[in-house]
Amino acid sequence: MAGASHDSARRANLVTAVCVAAAVACLPLVVKDVYIQNMLVLTLMYAALSQSWNILSGYCGQISLGHALYFGIGAYATLLLFTKFGVLPWFGMIAGGFVAALVAAAVGYPCFRLKGHYFVIATIVIAEAGLLLVLNWDYAGAAMGIEIPVRGDSWAKFQFARSKLPYFYFALALAFVAWLVTWRIEDSRWGYWWRAVKDNAEAAESLGVVVFRSKMAAAAVSAFLTAVGGGFYGQFVSYIDPESVMSFQFSLLMALARGARRHRHPVGAGGGRGHSHSDHGSYALLCRRHGQGFRSHRLRPPGDGHRARAAGGHRRRAHRAQAGAGVMSALLEVRDLTQRFGGLVANADVSIDVRAGEILGLIGPNGAGKSTLFNAIAGVRKPTQGRISFEGRDVTDLGAPERCALGIARTFQVVKSFETMSVVENVMVGAFQRTSSSREAREKARKVLDFTGLAARENAMAQELTPPEKRRLEVARALATEPKLLLLDEAMTGLTPAEARQGVELVRTIRERGVTIVMVEHVMEIVMPLVDRAVVLDLGRVIAEGKPADIVRDERVITAYLGERHRARDA
Ligand code: ADP
Ligand code: MG
Repeated sequence: MAGASHDSARRANLVTAVCVAAAVACLPLVVKDVYIQNMLVLTLMYAALSQSWNILSGYCGQISLGHALYFGIGAYATLLLFTKFGVLPWFGMIAGGFVAALVAAAVGYPCFRLKGHYFVIATIVIAEAGLLLVLNWDYAGAAMGIEIPVRGDSWAKFQFARSKLPYFYFALALAFVAWLVTWRIEDSRWGYWWRAVKDNAEAAESLGVVVFRSKMAAAAVSAFLTAVGGGFYGQFVSYIDPESVMSFQFSLLMALARGARRHRHPVGAGGGRGHSHSDHGSYALLCRRHGQGFRSHRLRPPGDGHRARAAGGHRRRAHRAQAGAGVMSALLEVRDLTQRFGGLVANADVSIDVRAGEILGLIGPNGAGKSTLFNAIAGVRKPTQGRISFEGRDVTDLGAPERCALGIARTFQVVKSFETMSVVENVMVGAFQRTSSSREAREKARKVLDFTGLAARENAMAQELTPPEKRRLEVARALATEPKLLLLDEAMTGLTPAEARQGVELVRTIRERGVTIVMVEHVMEIVMPLVDRAVVLDLGRVIAEGKPADIVRDERVITAYLGERHRARDA
């Protein structure tokens, strides 16, 4: 239903845009004043430019204050190619577009690898350098610029002396095409990825988004369209000079035209965006939802025999996994892993095996290095030393998105939602790992939301969720990538005892569906009955490993973590 309302809202947007474009197309019938017509042409051009700028800076969040450079490249390429080589402006505009895309990629390449404000500063610097370059470029007329001789009207040469109307219709078409491109992008994998990157790049990477490539693509598409706009401008005024097409003010204008508008997805008005929901989506619900799995396994009904059957299913799967491999092999192997932060050793010689189909508890005091170990397994940070292999393959040198593609998913101790995206869109970002169709991604996301008890919140903005809901959303997002291994970093922190029980049930159900789980959790009452084995970290080292019953009796564990209170009660 929500999928259909999403589609119809998008169709309504398209119909509105076509109507607006048609109405604007009729304007010259009433507006005969040439001056005002010229103003209309420029207004439409700015509309197209602001759409182009928005692709990089609005959707992707990479603020550019140097778009005048791409505009100038388009204008200069078009006019130079025509005046010096007789190349028709249509080809000139395209050529300018490609040159601008290349320059944008060259600016982005070093900057997108760094975090921080390098990119925005680089765009200003490069644009100023470009301005200085053309100011001193005699071949291109230096400060005098370039003028194209206009002789009569010609569509081939895109020159019109008598009437400005062809320019008007071209500018209208350009604005419409730029709008259409963003409309298409908005509901495409790239569009969701860009918005995710903008909201939280680290979370996006954990869901398989290659952030760097995503930013590069946005920069190139944006620069291309901007350069076409520049070529058009050159043709329209038939004269360009460095100041008129490449000045900083021009870059600012583009940013201001669009930057004020915070991007918010316009779709989903029919859904539960308001705050009137009672929080009735619960983990318990999912146990009753049969056959709606995102994998082929069917859920078993809850009941007394539930746990026993779950364990049985788990054993069968584990057995099958072993039989397939011939020997008892680990899904994940961590070997002698050390992670240093300057003088601090956060992980020291950690070796862990995670077996297919098990739930492994990772426990230890704050600062023991649990999250650091998760980051190493998920590919966020390369370990100082040691190797990690997954399904027998060495993955130490792979980044987070590649590991997600292989089947490693994770949640974050400090939640990292895509705040300006709706709940279902958050999950779609994960679903796009396995499909490029947004329809399929949406369907999959809705199934996962159903499964995780968030279906009622599907259209809420992530920023409207309660903290426990946000934790569930992280689990849903991770599940949508269809992981083989799921890392849960304190996913039940901040839950009430009742919510935590539902969380435990969810973890069991996930494992039943064939997903191996490693979980960090502090509340022993939650974690010990749930896990098959536990590994205890202290000061970065593994100090104990084994069955929960043995772990809670281990002297080192009691001293380092559980404390005397636990010993007293246990006895
Ligand atoms: P845990 O998750 O077990 O509570 P962490 O893995 O978060 O512990 O942290 C282990 C140690 O590493 C802590 O002393 C922490 O301050 C340090 N640490 C973690 N991440 C970084 C980092 N990016 N830079 C420097 N020190 C870090
Ligand atoms: Mg931690």
